[in-house]
Amino acid sequence: MGKRNRRQGFVVLLLCLSLVTAASGCSQRKEYQESTVYAMDTILTFQVLTDSDSEIFDLLRKEVDQVNLMLSATDASSELYRLNQSDGERLEISEDLADVIVRCLSVAKETDGALNIALYPVTQAWGFPNGDYHIPNGEILKDLMKKIDWKEIQIERNQIQLLPGMALDMGAVGKGYLTDRCVAVLKEQQISSALLKLGGNIYAYGTREDGSAWRIGVQKPFSEEVAAILTAKDEAIVTSGTYQRYFEKDGKKYHHIIDSATGYPADNELESVTIVSESGFQADALSTAYFVMGLDASIQAWRQKEDIGVIWILKDGAIYYTENLDGRFTAAEGTETYMVRQE
Ligand code: ADP
Ligand code: MG
Repeated sequence: MGKRNRRQGFVVLLLCLSLVTAASGCSQRKEYQESTVYAMDTILTFQVLTDSDSEIFDLLRKEVDQVNLMLSATDASSELYRLNQSDGERLEISEDLADVIVRCLSVAKETDGALNIALYPVTQAWGFPNGDYHIPNGEILKDLMKKIDWKEIQIERNQIQLLPGMALDMGAVGKGYLTDRCVAVLKEQQISSALLKLGGNIYAYGTREDGSAWRIGVQKPFSEEVAAILTAKDEAIVTSGTYQRYFEKDGKKYHHIIDSATGYPADNELESVTIVSESGFQADALSTAYFVMGLDASIQAWRQKEDIGVIWILKDGAIYYTENLDGRFTAAEGTETYMVRQE
């Protein structure tokens, strides 16, 4: 079992590499420049078409810091941390945090609790937030399961109250929310082209410099290969899967997406779910929720929506994709593919 000490939950920037890929100099010609930051327990890479002396990376890092200070469950200086220590007390929180929580509760309703931000006591018992992975004791888990009812979150404007022992985990939506904030900054700064990679969350901003759409690879689970390629423009492409964070015990894999009904990693026919949406938040929230729901239930859920595309990769290697992605989607040769239609 791999203990990974470097994983510290949503920790502040540990590594702050600034790779300027463009040739420097006094020319003001725009070129793609790249900046990489370690935060939110993953590597964030921003690739932006900009002047070499652009401030854009400072502005993007400011968003990373602010979102971290709001949503980190492990950083003792964050707003969420304070909320998670409130032990049943009513608390005033920022409007931004209240807004994220309300949006999460709306997705929880829509997905019948498949997205459950009240899962923190259970994800913590598995050691996922701090990297101390282990199978929790059955009795302890049973007890913690009484503390994860998202319907018990009382929120009115920016006043919030949890039951004693409850705590929130924004790991399923934090990177998507951050993506949207970064996109807003790119727009404000009149950037025309960028590619944001926040762990498994990608945002294809604008087109490439030559005007063509971005080409985004969807990873083949447990492999460096690409299972499919998708063209994208002004869209988030977010994948949740078994292979992104897991540990092995006695030959069995335990991954980090938990089914609230069992307190165990969601176990169904899926290896990954990718959501394509104009909203990074929506893509992140639904990729986690659809993964928990499994193929049939999430196909039904998708049919109630119109504005997102979905790619499901099954454990047997087959790929299902929604018809609105047809023509933008190329699966690796030899893959069994099925198109899912609206009825
Ligand atoms: P990643 O963090 O790899 O992008 P996800 O967006 O799917 O993956 O989020 C998984 C994280 O969300 C877990 O590490 C955990 O913190 C939290 N989580 C796990 N299961 C659920 C769930 N059913 N609902 C909400 N959050 C969850
Ligand atoms: Mg997610």
